[in-house]
Amino acid sequence: MNLVLLGPPGSGKGTQGELLAQRHGWPKLSTGDILREAVAAGTELGKKVEPIMAAGDLVPDEIVLGIVRERLAGEDCREGFILDGFPRTIPQAEGLEEILRESGRALSAVIEIRVSEEEVVRRLSGRRTCSQCNAIYHVEWKPPREEGVCDICGGKLVQRPDDRPEAIRERLREYREQTAPLVAFYEKRGLLRPVDGAGKVEEVAAAIEQQIAALR
Ligand code: AMP
Repeated sequence: MNLVLLGPPGSGKGTQGELLAQRHGWPKLSTGDILREAVAAGTELGKKVEPIMAAGDLVPDEIVLGIVRERLAGEDCREGFILDGFPRTIPQAEGLEEILRESGRALSAVIEIRVSEEEVVRRLSGRRTCSQCNAIYHVEWKPPREEGVCDICGGKLVQRPDDRPEAIRERLREYREQTAPLVAFYEKRGLLRPVDGAGKVEEVAAAIEQQIAALR
């Protein structure tokens, strides 16, 4: 199944994408993770996007489309994939259609995770991320066993630079202006499947599974 997870930053796309990947075996492709890896590795791409990401702005469409094109050509994506954090603009959504069309594929559905802005701010400001394996924690709701240390790999937990209050505000502005129009874009194509993202992780996961079951 070829899925897009759509929703504001902090809506749970990363968490739900990971669960879906575990349950169904489709790879989860997160453009944010790929870009953060490039920043950590200090590649040319990483140097270019680092200040853009730290400010909470969007990386140019051509760059992100190039990354996705390459990744979707991978053998592991043949049976399906889960896109997390992409597309984020109408040109990216159109570019994605083109990439899939070229390889005789199409999207199966776009799962829209709906969460209020207030809730998103609460989630993002307490979020901590493993600097090694990208696992996600929260200071209140999902603290690690040992403070500052990843339960899974022992890596150091950090606050993403773009989870600071100024950057959160900017990311939400970008979401409203650039990404929210994708809801209408995919609704028009009959692909949109909304789920309520305000509940517990397991509740949201169950709602997503229901939507997927209905597609089969
Ligand atoms: P995320 O981990 O999805 O919240 O992404 C973190 C940051 O990476 C975003 O705030 C953007 O700066 C950049 N980014 C990730 N995905 C995209 C995308 N599809 N288009 C543009 N910028 C992106």
